[in-house]
Amino acid sequence: MNQEDCIFCRIASGSIATEFVYEDDVCVAFNDLNPQSPTHILVIPREHFASLDKAESNHQETLGHLLLTAAEIARKKGFAEDGYRVVLNTNSDGGQTVFHLHAHLLAGRQFVFPPG
Ligand code: AMP
Ligand code: ZN
Repeated sequence: MNQEDCIFCRIASGSIATEFVYEDDVCVAFNDLNPQSPTHILVIPREHFASLDKAESNHQETLGHLLLTAAEIARKKGFAEDGYRVVLNTNSDGGQTVFHLHAHLLAGRQFVFPPG
């Protein structure tokens, strides 16, 4: 897959116009098109890699950055104390549909565990 075929690469590069709730050199964050909770934000690396399953040691810093960014967004948007969930769906049984790694940041309702 090259960047022109990947919808999240196109969002990150700006070729699909999307309002970012956060962006920096490493990642961008934007609202999910089909929200599963009152707040549902996707945090994605600018660099394309398909999934956690495809992550390698050189992605360590990027993966840490995604998690810290999700936590920062949660604090800035004011739902950190109430709580939230960060999800990385991975491959078919994990329910992954877009193969550019992304963290779902979900908040605004009570979540159950285990997830369905
Ligand atoms: P996953 O099923 O974990 O791969 O998550 C992919 C997510 O991307 C789903 O929650 C979709 O609703 C979301 N999504 C797909 N296309 C877009 C888009 N253009 N803008 C925002 N969210 C999208
Ligand atoms: Zn991509």
